[in-house]
Amino acid sequence: MNINENYRNLQDSYLFALVAKKVNEYKARNPGKEIISLGIGDVTLPLAPAVITAMRSAVEEMGNAATFRGYGDYQGYPFLREAVCGYYGKKGVFLDDVEVFIGDGAKSDLGNILDIFSPDNTVLIPDPVYPVYVDTNIMAGRSITYMRGNAENEFLPLPDSNIKADIIYLCSPNNPTGAVYDKRRLKLWVDYALEHDAVILFDSAYEAFVRDKDLPTSIYQIAGAKRCAIEFCSLSKTAGFTGVRCGYTVIPHELTRSGSPLNTLWLRRQTTKFNGVSYIVQRGAEAAFSAEGYMQIKESVDYYMENARLIADALSALGIWFVGGDNSPYIWLCCPGGMSSWEYFDALLSRANVVGTPGVGFGASGEGFFRLTAFGDRLDVKMALDRIGGIR
Ligand code: PLP
Repeated sequence: MNINENYRNLQDSYLFALVAKKVNEYKARNPGKEIISLGIGDVTLPLAPAVITAMRSAVEEMGNAATFRGYGDYQGYPFLREAVCGYYGKKGVFLDDVEVFIGDGAKSDLGNILDIFSPDNTVLIPDPVYPVYVDTNIMAGRSITYMRGNAENEFLPLPDSNIKADIIYLCSPNNPTGAVYDKRRLKLWVDYALEHDAVILFDSAYEAFVRDKDLPTSIYQIAGAKRCAIEFCSLSKTAGFTGVRCGYTVIPHELTRSGSPLNTLWLRRQTTKFNGVSYIVQRGAEAAFSAEGYMQIKESVDYYMENARLIADALSALGIWFVGGDNSPYIWLCCPGGMSSWEYFDALLSRANVVGTPGVGFGASGEGFFRLTAFGDRLDVKMALDRIGGIR
């Protein structure tokens, strides 16, 4: 019996564990000091009332023989797929509801989608980035080429015609950098993918945070993208579903490779390995897309984005270079005074009692950078910003 040897190539995911260890040690040495975290990547506001009402009534249905439901449609209930199509329609993207797959969040689908691709495919992944793309490909034994984000390219790497890739990951708005591709730059990727027969895996988990009307919130707003891209989205950050679990993946009919529609392959994969998201959760998700629910979830997004604006304004006033914060809940700053990511972490913790996330934890190109998030409480954010000012 042999294990999957590729697992030996994974690096320990020590980032958040090390952050927690350092914070706990500091607290133990300095009892009574109040630590504020601007490192939280999870939402903090409660679910919208419309979502709660819908889930309550779905619970009632499940408790009644006449309305009880067992296994649902593998791809998600039509009512939710249609609600997702309606949401896309408002962005000018027109989908057939069988192009939409309801899942339990973007992370599962981003990892599982690799089932439908050959292990021989070459993969292009931005650095720094959400670590799931890297680890899931290492588990599958694929060779990875990294595309470096830096201040010059505003952490938005562009295609290099000398590099041949079959699978390309793009995350926009990006975690951790908060950088967002504009239509011109995204078109360069779509053109590259079409030319090289590559598939773009487009993670739009933070699309709801985009404020600028000219920025794309779906890759399908770019001509030709339906022939080369799969889009992953989630209600986690949009509607506070990190603990409820619901997301959706779009695979357009036009997207075929080696003569096979990828939609058909994914459906086959899902019908074999996935039994769907609970009815109760899908009713809650449907409510998030209703007019009333959407207004309510937008209020939470607006709250986080006001936090982001406060952070961005404070950094600008301090003359600290950063990206993000205007169209995303993440702010990615260059550590002042040439400090490394962990040096700045230690300085903020010990001198300001503020916690953030060292950029190097998201990839080698993150060294010297630092991630702040806007998911905290407003008063905490203001207090933290007052304290950060002194650390240079
Ligand atoms: N994609 C990105 C870029 C994320 O940052 C996250 C979560 O933090 C996810 C996907 C996963 O989200 P979900 O909760 O839908 O699995």
